[in-house]
Amino acid sequence: MTPEQAKKTDPLTLPQLLLVEDSPTTTALLSKYLGGSYRMLHASDGELAWRMLEKNPGIVLVITDIHMPNMTGHQLLVKIRRSDDDRYKNLPVIVMTTAEDNVDRNLAFLNGANDFITKPIDEMELQARVNVHYRLARTIRELESSKAALAEQALTDSLTKLRNRRAFFANGARALSMAQRYVSDLSVILLDIDHFKKINDNHGHQVGDEALVIVAGILMELARSVDTVARIGGEEFAILLPDINRLGTAVLAERIRKAIEREQFIVGDKIVQITTSIGIASFGVDRVESIDQLLAVADNRLYLAKESGRNRICVNDEGKTTFG
Ligand code: GH3
Ligand code: MG
Ligand code: MG
Ligand code: MG
Repeated sequence: MTPEQAKKTDPLTLPQLLLVEDSPTTTALLSKYLGGSYRMLHASDGELAWRMLEKNPGIVLVITDIHMPNMTGHQLLVKIRRSDDDRYKNLPVIVMTTAEDNVDRNLAFLNGANDFITKPIDEMELQARVNVHYRLARTIRELESSKAALAEQALTDSLTKLRNRRAFFANGARALSMAQRYVSDLSVILLDIDHFKKINDNHGHQVGDEALVIVAGILMELARSVDTVARIGGEEFAILLPDINRLGTAVLAERIRKAIEREQFIVGDKIVQITTSIGIASFGVDRVESIDQLLAVADNRLYLAKESGRNRICVNDEGKTTFG
């Protein structure tokens, strides 16, 4: 919404502008000039302004006087620019100085001001400068949020909304270096749906897709929030389990296998049964150098699970389904 459009709507929906000024006359004047397009908030010194900013995440622009009691405009600027809070990073700050005061003006720029306005204030110039910075900041916010959405999309499997293969390996590399540094464990579960081709052939590709989504839901339900649940191939899923040893992993893998076997996939008037084969691997016992290698160990055991009849887990290179 532009300030012009906002004017015609509820004043409460106008973009919020914080005016920091100790002079009541200047405050009244600026409120008159800008009040039609912005919702004006006012603070009479830098300290009060900082408190208002902290309380009001909706403030999109700041106009500040320089000379004020308690905290000056310079100090306020420094506080805003030094903050770790992301919402201050691109918050436009416009300082007000007198025409001859180029020392304050230059210092304000050094401290991160976006622009200045000279007193006495010219109405048209004030509105033009404020609108430019408001629009620029809004464009930057929009770009950053679409950048974040794209980054998220690049790591997400579009069908199941699980993490994708790329995210699995990125998280895996990070988790493995943590496990090495802190001498903790890291395990993977690798799961492949049995005879999935037949499900597609018998019921159609769309039913196959639905089955993948249901399997994904079961995995998400049984995993912890710190685990990475990913779809790493067509009907192949992997779970990364930080701090879980091979025994814990085997227990979870068996629980997953049973949950999927029990699930009723209803297609028209038929119930389709799905089973899975699972291989596991743990850094603590399998001593690999990379996440690719850890997955390769799990893949070999997944192959053994398929070979020995499917619908089972395999926990070691001898094809065992349990330890002991
Ligand atoms: P196995 O028990 O040995 O794993 O047999 P399978 O039939 O599951 O294995 P295979 O690798 O021969 O077939 C996998 C099938 O998965 C083939 C492919 O058409 C199907 N598939 C891959 N991606 C998708 C997808 O996104 N949607 C659907 N519906 N099917 C998919
Ligand atoms: Mg003053
Ligand atoms: Mg497969
Ligand atoms: Mg399969």
